[in-house]
Amino acid sequence: MKDRALSIKVNDRDNVAIVANDGGLLAGATLADGTVLLEGVPPGHKVALTDLPAGAPVVRYGEMIGHAARAIPRGSWIDESLVLLPEAPSLDRLSLSTGQAPDLPPLPGYTFEGYRNADGTVGTKNLLGIVTSVQCVSGVVNHLVRRIKEELLPRYPNVDDVVAVNHAYGCGVAINAPGSAVPIRTLQNLVRNPNFGGEAMIVGLGCEKLEADRLVPEETSGGCCGDCGVCAGSPVLLLQDETLHGFADMIAALMKMAEDRLERLNRRRRESCPASDLIVGVQCGGSDAFSGVTANPAVGYAADLVVRAGGTVMFSEVTEVRDAVHLLLPRTADVWVGRALLREMDWYDRYLAGGGADRSANPTPGNKEGGLANVVEKALGSIAKSGSGPIVDVIGPGNRVQRKGLVFAATPASDFVCGTLQLAAGMNLQVFTTGRGTPYGLAMAPVVKVSSSPALSQRWHDLIDLDASRIATGEATIEDVGWELFRLILDVASGRKQVAADRLGLYNDLILFNPGPVT
Ligand code: CA
Repeated sequence: MKDRALSIKVNDRDNVAIVANDGGLLAGATLADGTVLLEGVPPGHKVALTDLPAGAPVVRYGEMIGHAARAIPRGSWIDESLVLLPEAPSLDRLSLSTGQAPDLPPLPGYTFEGYRNADGTVGTKNLLGIVTSVQCVSGVVNHLVRRIKEELLPRYPNVDDVVAVNHAYGCGVAINAPGSAVPIRTLQNLVRNPNFGGEAMIVGLGCEKLEADRLVPEETSGGCCGDCGVCAGSPVLLLQDETLHGFADMIAALMKMAEDRLERLNRRRRESCPASDLIVGVQCGGSDAFSGVTANPAVGYAADLVVRAGGTVMFSEVTEVRDAVHLLLPRTADVWVGRALLREMDWYDRYLAGGGADRSANPTPGNKEGGLANVVEKALGSIAKSGSGPIVDVIGPGNRVQRKGLVFAATPASDFVCGTLQLAAGMNLQVFTTGRGTPYGLAMAPVVKVSSSPALSQRWHDLIDLDASRIATGEATIEDVGWELFRLILDVASGRKQVAADRLGLYNDLILFNPGPVT
């Protein structure tokens, strides 16, 4: 028996649908609305549901994603070459008609088991963090981490792991250039990530441009009482310290410093915390045309649940929301948030222009093969991750979240850069959607990976944490998967369930966003 032709049309105004059958569809297949395919169409790719004259708008998600490059008869495969990229919404001409998204109804009573910190934040992991002020020390720090894991960590069973924050910044850079504020505050705020429990060590060299003391959080740098157990001793060690004679001395001093911290971290226990202490970052990577109809809307539904429970959800990736900014602006809570959103878009437009690029640089060859014609189609699917609630704040790259609710954290879309900046913003758990598949993971916070397409969900059964492709095949609704994800978030945040990346130890490097010059 031949498989039933499955297609997904998102909005009544759409003049295209995507093919949802696993292996695509052959010429002659008939869609639910009677459209007969004139040619074979791969999974996730678009079919014209009406005759489109040359120049006609191609409409998906109820929005124009581009213009037909030539006349396209009904039933044709619309590949990316047939969709001409439209102009981005002009930031000058958008009206600041903000405050149009109503508050979501509260959802009380949900909790998770987390590590409460002195500053009020809550960790979902109990990690010893070692943050470097300059790349020069990373060889020593990598050696140190190996030694800690072998010799110390087994004696402190309540500590989950030791994590080095190595990076390419710190010296050989124009430290006073305006762009350098971004990597510097990113490092300062990584030190303060809730999963480091206020106990991160900072390792510097001594002669670098980024002085290691600048990474010490304000709340621990002033007036050490010497016996409170929180501020005891400086968290900074410089390898050029004149009392250290050679490598063995350095390692001995660092091991001692680590052991003091492991003692304190090991005494911590999980306690019941309201879901309002969650700071969830959402991101997508390796998207396909399914992402916007399965995984991203399910994540959006779960995002609404987290926000309704009083928690914080951050969405990011400027180049992937830029073409949908006209849909986000009405959802900003007030004109100040609206202006901040436009300011971040404008900053990024200029940043790209300075490098001789624009937003069309975004979709990857894999995105296109997965059925995404251009950045407009990608953006319309991408913003589904933000759910439906009001946007209460906008923060610049590397800054920390200040308000609970739905926040736009302006970051590049690059998975590792976005992940690093969301960690700096205070994220204690990330939800990551993927259609093409990426083994992405972060050592500093659990990453729940949600797959969008049926093929990936089967092939990567042990790398994916939640299969949202059941929405495409009609086996589950967006609401079903959204609730499932919300409960999974609470379980993972509590340490009751382990995500694939943690089980397998798959962690990406942290990559700082440095818009400033290198010297
Ligand atoms: Ca991304």
